Amino acid sequence: MKIIIVGAGIGGLTAALAFRKFGHDVTVLEAAEAITEVGAGIQISPNALKVFEALGIGDAVRAHAFRPEALEMRMGRSGRSLFRVPISQAEEKRWGAQYLHVHRADLIGAMRGALEEDSGLEIQLSQRVVAYQQTADKAAIKTTDGEQVEGDLIVGADGIRSTIREQMLGPQKPTFTGNVAWRAVVPTQALGKDAPPPTACVWAGPGRHAVTYRLRNGSLSNLVGVVERDDWTSESWTQQGTREEALRDFDGWHPVITTMLEKADQHFRWALFDRRPLPRWSDGRAVLLGDACHPTLPFMAQGAAMAIEDGYALAQEVSHSKRPDLTVALQNYFDRRIDRVTFVQTGSRANTKTFHKSGRFAQFAAYFPMYLTGRLKPEFIAHRSDTLYGYDPTLPLAETQ
Ligand code: FAD
Repeated sequence: MKIIIVGAGIGGLTAALAFRKFGHDVTVLEAAEAITEVGAGIQISPNALKVFEALGIGDAVRAHAFRPEALEMRMGRSGRSLFRVPISQAEEKRWGAQYLHVHRADLIGAMRGALEEDSGLEIQLSQRVVAYQQTADKAAIKTTDGEQVEGDLIVGADGIRSTIREQMLGPQKPTFTGNVAWRAVVPTQALGKDAPPPTACVWAGPGRHAVTYRLRNGSLSNLVGVVERDDWTSESWTQQGTREEALRDFDGWHPVITTMLEKADQHFRWALFDRRPLPRWSDGRAVLLGDACHPTLPFMAQGAAMAIEDGYALAQEVSHSKRPDLTVALQNYFDRRIDRVTFVQTGSRANTKTFHKSGRFAQFAAYFPMYLTGRLKPEFIAHRSDTLYGYDPTLPLAETQ
């Protein structure tokens, strides 16, 4: 089959690799002039890494990654530990793959490296798709410069403001969640004693939280700082705020957070949007994946992981289908994915409330049980992640149905 993928983000490139693995011809159309990612980190949890292993790029993704010692949560101002669950010795045994922190540029580089060596794949840049068309046995997309590309299946991996989704399901604006994310990356050496711990660490506080972790074998430190505010709704990593503004948002917080904001050269900010679960993800020979159909708040670090899982699951379902019309395969893909991505979307929304508790009583009620569990039964906290990280999206179909 000939597969046309719209969008060369993490989801679209994973789908491209997966469709190639199953023997299809693939054309990727990307609106941007180059395949790039923002200069920031991403957490690749074991469920997502299993897909990269199956696609043969596990080693390339691992090459510059950092393996966190533990998953932990602290109070944002005092730095007091709420829980710390060691994972580096156990994650492969427990969840079947490692937990990695990767620079986004390195991740895209690993994927692009595999795709560039592949003659069955074509990536066309500066091609903004405006619409799709279809008949019973063919599909085609049109780009802004009037070009028409034909294939058997169109995959809309074009992100939260997806053109393919809009044509399929009508206009529906994503909702601004009232949260703005600051991002900064700083050389770890420049942070001295205030370098973040070598863990995946959430720092909780009233109306805001931060996440710190290390990248590039530990040489870089990454900060995401999320603040509830309604005066910034622009969704663009290229737009910067000022150091002063970022520091104001985290005034009085632990030196690990404020030192990173002080030392960072650039302070990018991004408004966080959300969308209700959609009733369907396909229309004949067009189908959606990743943020195009289920944008996810980053509060479980699973948005890209879900796009990665989607890409593999879609390629698997389409490849195993015996029917030429693809309807059953695309329905099977939706049925297989919808509960899992809805669980992650809902859990991520719920985490906003958990991380942002205000007032002594609300904080005590939320965090004391966590503190006790972390001390008495840390195993229980790891166990709560089993559904998420233990899942293997690459099992052969008979075992997943
Ligand atoms: P996108 O990355 O948005 O890619 C869409 C692509 O389509 C883009 O390249 C775009 O240029 C292209 N495009 C758009 N329109 C068109 C068109 N009309 N024609 C052609 N091309 C088009 N996830 C995790 O798993 N772990 C994390 O640690 C994590 N941290 C995060 C931290 C923050 C602060 C944020 C905001 C998100 C985080 N995420 C994380 C979520 C993750 O970044 C996204 O869910 C993921 O990047 C979505 O990938 P995608 O391929 O679906 O969409």
